[in-house]
Amino acid sequence: MSSKTDKIDEFAFIEALAKHVAEAPEALGLNDDGAALWFGDGRKLVVVADMLQAGVHTLSNASPDQVICKALRTNLSDIAAMGAAPAFFLCTLALPKKPEAAQIQQIVSALDKEQKHFGVSLIGGDTIGGKGPFTVSITVLGWAAGPLLRRSGAKIGDDVWVSGHIGDGWLGLQVAQQKITSLSSAHEKSVLRRYEYPEPRLKLGVALAGIAHSAIDVSDGLLGDAVHIAKASGCALTIRPALVPLSAATQNWLRDENDPETSRVSLLTGGDDYELLFTAPTEKADKITGLSAALGINLCRIGKVCAGEGVLLENEAGQRHTAPKTGFTHF
Ligand SMILES: [Mg+2]
Repeated sequence: MSSKTDKIDEFAFIEALAKHVAEAPEALGLNDDGAALWFGDGRKLVVVADMLQAGVHTLSNASPDQVICKALRTNLSDIAAMGAAPAFFLCTLALPKKPEAAQIQQIVSALDKEQKHFGVSLIGGDTIGGKGPFTVSITVLGWAAGPLLRRSGAKIGDDVWVSGHIGDGWLGLQVAQQKITSLSSAHEKSVLRRYEYPEPRLKLGVALAGIAHSAIDVSDGLLGDAVHIAKASGCALTIRPALVPLSAATQNWLRDENDPETSRVSLLTGGDDYELLFTAPTEKADKITGLSAALGINLCRIGKVCAGEGVLLENEAGQRHTAPKTGFTHF
């Protein structure tokens, strides 16, 4: 029996909500990147919500417009993970008591630029004068392009794929916090950009509807997010760390590290990647390779779905072991 002082983590809290509160089928058991509403004409509306706070998800000195851009982009990444195209969004802000006019102008400009860039329209929200750090909560609504991409669809024998490069967001945070100072200025710039302005894989998410069996966006760390697919699908994901795609910046950094294997695990568990991790049957491999060329997005096969549970790491010799840690949790 739990006592008043017992602590629970973020995922136990979500499980409790799913069990006792979010019972509507549209909630999808709180097991996916968003909820889904089915309309009589066959259309499916995907709804996602995500909140960011300066100093938690960005640097504490990040400007409100930077925090808002990242918040919108992380929400769009969830929309992509569900195989939907974004249409509308609501934006709720907790601003300092008396914001400066220049600050408001920056927020308005940033929202306008971002909504045009991503083809979404602001339709509402709320604003309060807050006492804590600048906080933004965004809800995005988007139309599913085909069958919903869900975490629960992985099948034994599927290939595990990931888009883009993993670890740049984590490395960007280390650079921003001046914990890592050994990168060239060009590489510093590229990883900082990845940390501050993640690029949601919207075109890829839509294209994978009907091809991938399961998907999730990588927000809390590749291995931790792989655990979510494994758990929701009732199977295990075997991942070969050596096959996980790394950018030139992360490869260079890794090359100079004293303990490259431990450092590689940091890249795989750091989070802030906003790439898509998905599984698909092997017969779709050619189609996925074709998508990679058509969309100009790096897509790599990094493992397999197999019987069991959780995430296993596999070395070059085929030996498997449990991941030492998997990813970030918010509390
Ligand atoms: Mg997500």
